[in-house]
Amino acid sequence: MTDAFLTDPLGELLPPLTTQEALVESNRCLNCYDAPCTHACPTHIDVPRFIKKISTGNLIGSAAAILESNLLGATCSRVCPVQELCEGACVLQHEHRPITIGRLQRFAMDAAASAGVFPVKMSSVGKGKIAVVGAGPAGLSCAGELAKLGYEVTVLEKRDLPGGLSTYGIITLREPKEIALYEVEMLSRLGVKVESGRELGCSLSLTELQKSYDAVFLALGLEASPNLGIPGEEHILDGLDYVERSKIRRSEVELGNHVAVIGAGNTAIDCATIAKRLGSNRVTVVYRRTDKEMTAYPHEYEFIKAEGVEFRFLSQPSRVLVEAGKVTGLECVLMQLGARDSSDRPIPTRISGSEFVLDVDLVVKAIGQEKPSLAKSLGLETERGYLKVNEDFQTNLPGVFAGGDCVRHRGAASTVMAVQDGKLAAAAIHKKLVNA
Ligand code: SF4
Repeated sequence: MTDAFLTDPLGELLPPLTTQEALVESNRCLNCYDAPCTHACPTHIDVPRFIKKISTGNLIGSAAAILESNLLGATCSRVCPVQELCEGACVLQHEHRPITIGRLQRFAMDAAASAGVFPVKMSSVGKGKIAVVGAGPAGLSCAGELAKLGYEVTVLEKRDLPGGLSTYGIITLREPKEIALYEVEMLSRLGVKVESGRELGCSLSLTELQKSYDAVFLALGLEASPNLGIPGEEHILDGLDYVERSKIRRSEVELGNHVAVIGAGNTAIDCATIAKRLGSNRVTVVYRRTDKEMTAYPHEYEFIKAEGVEFRFLSQPSRVLVEAGKVTGLECVLMQLGARDSSDRPIPTRISGSEFVLDVDLVVKAIGQEKPSLAKSLGLETERGYLKVNEDFQTNLPGVFAGGDCVRHRGAASTVMAVQDGKLAAAAIHKKLVNA
């Protein structure tokens, strides 16, 4: 699955482990009792068990051990911030170097894919029909878990391709879209049906879904980037669209002599990487706080600095300069950090008279996504703008559950957390239906 990307500037960052490397690495694992790596994994994959199976050459058994806890094991092996999770918790972290758990997981999942198998135990205890709205990681995980239990599951997706951010919104260097689409194909082998072009509020009515299905799981994700509210904003490219073009319509990626990327989260890092690797001369990330507050992971910050991307911290864009329809600069103002807000982040305030201009010819913004806007029209209660669910992922509407980024006031947003939401929601839906 990976060779095709080796000559691509955005091809997968790390090559796959060779069989010899995987054997050596798997034999370094201490097979810890009550393993901290497993505790640190949001989906609680039995890490020592899958690694042990690699060391004995049982690669399909290893993939089966991963899939028991995480049906999107191939995606998570690539996009998980392992340094912050399993590998960060490995007992070999301090004395030597941690086991490369992510790469071993990818090795096992790639082996199963090459063999054309998706080793998952099926059951037929579940009786009923479930609708899942949204084919991102939360929706697919929930759909797959319910299909495993025997339910008839249909995933309704508004976009042409399933996979959500894994297909459209994560740079190819971390996850090629083919991996995400391959996982969907594997879930379809479990019986999951995916219908594209089905959008809630347009071609789909929640009330109709409630009538036609025994339960509904909403995995709506989030929406477009918010506006900056500055003059010339219409000349700024959207970060997620920029990543999507690089994955789906590469020839449409705009480059510049000097590109400004506004924001300092994972998508901003992806946009800066794309702009730089595809040929822009200079790329500068513009962020209104400092490197201590940026939401990108520390290893991503180190990565992007090594790529030659520059940073302008404590700088907030105030105007896009345009001449004859072309961007000629980004005016910014310097900021200073003050008291902390309710999320314990220092509030940036403008330093008057500190305006300066970056001589950029392309501006991309990646400043997060808006919260789900459909809630009100669907009669769903919200909490801080996200869909409100109880501990069983149940919304205020009967038979309607929700999970993933659209409920993510409950913890950090990430692919693996979305997968875990989907898994836990599937268990809650099953419990509810068998007790009905
Ligand atoms: Fe192996 Fe490290 Fe996990 Fe221990 S903590 S089981 S050494 S991967």
